[in-house]
Amino acid sequence: MKNTTQSANRQENFLNLNEFKSEVIIDSPGRINLIGEHIDYNGGHVLPAAIDKKIRIYLKKSNTDTCTIWSENYSTGFSFDINDVKSGAVEWQNYILGVVHYIGTIKGGFVKGFDCIIHSELPMGSGLSSSAALECGLAKGLDELFKIGLSSDEIITLSRDAEHNFVGTKCGIMDQFSVVRGKKNHLILLDCQSLKYELIKSDLDPYKLVLLNSNVSHNLASSEYNTRRQECEDALAAINNKYPSYEYLVDVPEEIVKEFKEELPEKTFNRAIYVTQENKRTLMASNALEDDLFEVFGSLLYQSHKGLSELYEVSCDELDFMVDFSKEFDFVLGSRMMGGGFGGCTINLVHEDHVSDYIENISEAYKKKFNIELSPIGVNISNGVSKI
Ligand code: ADP
Ligand code: MG
Repeated sequence: MKNTTQSANRQENFLNLNEFKSEVIIDSPGRINLIGEHIDYNGGHVLPAAIDKKIRIYLKKSNTDTCTIWSENYSTGFSFDINDVKSGAVEWQNYILGVVHYIGTIKGGFVKGFDCIIHSELPMGSGLSSSAALECGLAKGLDELFKIGLSSDEIITLSRDAEHNFVGTKCGIMDQFSVVRGKKNHLILLDCQSLKYELIKSDLDPYKLVLLNSNVSHNLASSEYNTRRQECEDALAAINNKYPSYEYLVDVPEEIVKEFKEELPEKTFNRAIYVTQENKRTLMASNALEDDLFEVFGSLLYQSHKGLSELYEVSCDELDFMVDFSKEFDFVLGSRMMGGGFGGCTINLVHEDHVSDYIENISEAYKKKFNIELSPIGVNISNGVSKI
C-alpha cells in the first residue's frame, strides 16, 4: 500500500477509534488572530491566540514500515511506506507526508511506521487554522511517540515547511507559532521577523470575542494567497531599487511607499500601503488592549477590515456584509474578517450583554441576504499543542 487514498466507507485495513489502542494522544488547537492580517509573511506584528477548539490526534506505533492515517472528518484514510515519503495529489495527505518528511530532515531515522486517527472540531478553511493544528499536532505526536526530542521552534518551522513545500501554500509563521506557543488567557504579540513575542492578558471584560463563520469558502483562497505574497515581494523589490536597505515590506515607512504611487501598478501599491498601515494598527491595538481602551481597539478592527477589503482585496460580499451590518450596533465595538480571506470567519468584539441579540440579528439578516446559515463559534483562549 503506497500513498493510496481509500475513500468513503470505513474499510477493514483502516482504523477505528473504538478499537484503537493509542500510545499518544495530542490536542492541537486552532487559533484566532485579533489583528495583523497577511502581515506575518511581510515581517510584521500579529496578535493571535490559541483557542479551545482543537484537533485531537491519536497515535500508536505500527511496528512495520507502513503508516496508516485515518481522518474521522473526511471518513477517509490512506497508507504509505515510511521509506517512501513524497508529496502526492491529495491535499490533506500532503500535510501528513510533509510533516513526516521534514522531521526526517531534522532528526533522520527516528520516525518509524505509525498509525494515526485525526478527529477535529475545527471547521476547515474557515480561518481558524485547522492546517497548522494538523501539522503541529502530528509533529508533536510523533515527537512524543518516538521520543525524538524536537524543540518547539523545530516543530513550528518544520510544520511551516511542510505546508510550503508539500501542500504549496506559502503561509507565514503565525499559525504554527500560535498553535505551539499559545497560552491560556493570553494573546501573543509576535514579531514575525525576530520571532520575539510578548504575552498580553486577554481580559476583555465586559466584551466578548464572537466568531461568526460565514460558511462560504470561495475557491480563490489559496491561489490568491500566493498572489498576494508575490505582489508584496514585487512592491519591496521596486522599493529596494531606490532604497536597498529594507528587508521586509513592513520596515518601509508609509511616506516612502507613497513615493512609489506612480511607479507601481495600482494594486501592488495598494497592497504595500495596506501592509504598512496594518502593521501599525497591530501595535496600536495591543497598546489599546493593555490600557483597556476597547473602543480604540474595536475601531482598529473595523479599519483593518476596510484595508483588507479595499486595498488588499481579500474579502468577499458575505464578509463585507457581516462587518457592515455589525457597525449598526453600538454594542459591537469592532468587526473584521479573519484569516486568509474569501470566506471563513469574522471576529467581533461584542458587549457580553448583547451577544445573543447580535448573533440572532446578524444571522437573520445574513440568511435573508445570502440564504446561508451563519455559524457562531464560541471560543476561549487556551494553551498550545499538548499531550493529554
Ligand atoms: P484553515 O487552516 O484556515 O482551516 P486551510 O485551507 O489552510 O484552512 O487548511 C485546511 C486543510 O487542512 C483542509 O482542506 C485539509 O486538507 C486539512 N485538514 C484540516 N483538518 C483536517 C482533518 N480533520 N482531516 C483531514 N484534513 C484536514
Ligand atoms: Mg491554514
